[in-house]
Amino acid sequence: MTDIKAIDKKYVANTYARFPVQLVSGKGAMVLDENGKEYIDMGTGIGVTAFGFADEELKKAVFAQLNLLQHSSNLYYTEPCALLAMGLCQRTGMKKVFFSNSGAESNECAIKAARKWAAEKKGSEYYNIVTLQDSFHGRTLTTLAATGQSQYHELFQPLTPGFIHAPANDLEAVKAASLQHNTAAIMIECIQGEGGVIVMDRNFVTQLADFCAAEDILLIVDEVQTGNGRTGSLFAYMQYGIMPDIVTTAKGLGGGLPLGATLLGEKVEFVLGAGDHGSTFGGNPVSCAGALSILNRLDAEFLADIRKKGEYIFSQLNGAPGVESVSGMGLMIGVKPIKPVDKVLESCREMGVLCLTAKNKLRLLPPLNIPMDTLEAAVDTIKAACTE
Ligand SMILES: *Cc1c(COP(=O)(O)O)cnc(C)c1O
Repeated sequence: MTDIKAIDKKYVANTYARFPVQLVSGKGAMVLDENGKEYIDMGTGIGVTAFGFADEELKKAVFAQLNLLQHSSNLYYTEPCALLAMGLCQRTGMKKVFFSNSGAESNECAIKAARKWAAEKKGSEYYNIVTLQDSFHGRTLTTLAATGQSQYHELFQPLTPGFIHAPANDLEAVKAASLQHNTAAIMIECIQGEGGVIVMDRNFVTQLADFCAAEDILLIVDEVQTGNGRTGSLFAYMQYGIMPDIVTTAKGLGGGLPLGATLLGEKVEFVLGAGDHGSTFGGNPVSCAGALSILNRLDAEFLADIRKKGEYIFSQLNGAPGVESVSGMGLMIGVKPIKPVDKVLESCREMGVLCLTAKNKLRLLPPLNIPMDTLEAAVDTIKAACTE
């Protein structure tokens, strides 16, 4: 048998510490490895395969579009791109969408829009963007600069200038940082994903939104991980009752196909004009057709079901033996085990449940449509892994 792991180790750039598992095929929340071992998928890539593997509706939408056009440049109109933009705007109240292929790119577009808006409205010295410590906004040099985790920065200096990091959930510190510098925008995640499934306080977010409105500073919410139903609302910011100026998303949007989106609100609707920004692959009709099949299923009843499943996980694991704490919203949950998290992750994998980690927590991002009995089995395994 061809040793895929050896070939991968030899030829694929060494940027990922892969688990010793080759994934071969999946159906819904179940996935098979190269030895035919079956796992429950509690990671969905990293919050990407929102309706699980080989989802019938996604396949139908994608195959239909593949039979028409797999690509068109952005010099032409296509139906899936236009309909997805309309759907996202109608569901959020945002005004326009720029499509790209990833989370980092969706943030790049937000940063460019914020800088151009501020330069025109407030002056070219207003280029700074305040982000939070322990945030994660991507791996390009600019989104790395936005990311408030210095361990990612050290080897890649100089990064794009103009980013200031302030402590999360500390309103006064974020206000002070914004007022000390000439600030175009403040960018936050409502729940820091890579940062350890840290939920922002309600008061912090609502008062920050008020501050931004009063000071005419743009509020950018990075919903790359929290968006598209993950937290039990279409976007997490909706549960805070705020209206951002820019929302970025990717991960679950395309259901597994690469797609990023930058949603532009009223203040910045017309900031980017022809030639200001672009992407060869952005708004790919196949990805957009897939995304439409996802978005159309995220209705009120389905979102309520996500919240119910999240509450189930919470109630089962919060205070369980071997569990120090549980955080998160909807089906984005962090579990801090008493044992080292890597050990728990490995035990889960051995017992047939694939999870993720974020800092010292187990991170759970299961398919949004995971059947209840499958979820129960996964939670039982996680409990066992935390105590064994
Ligand atoms: C994953 C992530 C990104 C980066 O997305 P890529 O698609 O890997 O570029 C940006 N922001 C947040 C909040 C993320 O979770």
